[in-house]
Amino acid sequence: MAASTVTLAPGRWALAVHGGAGTIARSTPEAEAPYHAGLRAALAAGQAVLEQGGTALDAVVAAVVALEDCPLFNAGHGAVFTADETHELDAGVMDGSNRAAGALAGVTTLRNPVLGALEVLRDGRCVLMGGALADAWCAARGVAAVAPGYFSTAHRRAQLHAVRARDREATVLDHTGAASQRGTGGETRMGTVGAVALDRHGHLAAATSTGGMTNKRPGRIGDTPIVGAGVFADDATCAVSTTGTGEHFIRGCVAHDVHARIAYGGLALPQAAERAIAGSLAPLGGSGGLVAVDRQGRIAMPFNSAGMYRAWAREGEAAASAVFEPPGRG
Ligand code: ASP
Repeated sequence: MAASTVTLAPGRWALAVHGGAGTIARSTPEAEAPYHAGLRAALAAGQAVLEQGGTALDAVVAAVVALEDCPLFNAGHGAVFTADETHELDAGVMDGSNRAAGALAGVTTLRNPVLGALEVLRDGRCVLMGGALADAWCAARGVAAVAPGYFSTAHRRAQLHAVRARDREATVLDHTGAASQRGTGGETRMGTVGAVALDRHGHLAAATSTGGMTNKRPGRIGDTPIVGAGVFADDATCAVSTTGTGEHFIRGCVAHDVHARIAYGGLALPQAAERAIAGSLAPLGGSGGLVAVDRQGRIAMPFNSAGMYRAWAREGEAAASAVFEPPGRG
């Protein structure tokens, strides 16, 4: 894709976001428009940080906060339901400048799980926290909490009931009521969100946030908060945020796989990203995609699902080049 081929001059920023991968082939432009608007709002939030000389880490967090606050995406406000009609959210962030990382799994009260993950990173004593004690620790550090009802949007509850009416045991990737996943790679729309950025100082960062999979087993944790699976960043190579069938991304170490193909295999980012999907995700039966940026500002956004919501912006390019690539046609 065109965005992969451009190398930025040093000192310029780059940013890419995603709103999940999945089946959108039958969507109309009218139905897609709010998703486009949500992605553009996230780009604007991250871009504002980068244009002021802020860090890639702060930019990806700002972008993901915007996506978590949008009820259309499966993260934060729009998180999907578990089989128990509850919400368990996962998020991870990584700073490529020092490979510091912070992540939360199965939190239930944080309005913006990515801000909790950032607190874990900043604290630095551990990388991954989970469950009610993680909620409490974050709240004590000032991360905003909400009542569980905040996450209970009507369309997500209808989605859960539709899935369970078809197959009580099925877990599906976000929305629209198509095939169950059950390890087959079959999927519907995935709404996990993420962002990757290169800042003017040459640093990379990545952030990913999700409600997981509709009707998931309570306690199930996906790839999103797992460093090397759902999120990864290293200034020497790239920053990566993934979306898709989480178990396959964990087993394929997909985010780290992009890094490894650059670091050890000498590939350029576009090839490394495409081969990670084709060579490490697809053979396991996995479905999904990723956004990635390298230290030259090249952006790659491959997927093997039927579509993926992605958008990107780069310094020095006209505002119109903050292109939204229509999902399923990219
Ligand atoms: N990767 C997420 C998970 O497995 C789901 C998604 O990307 O929509 O929890």
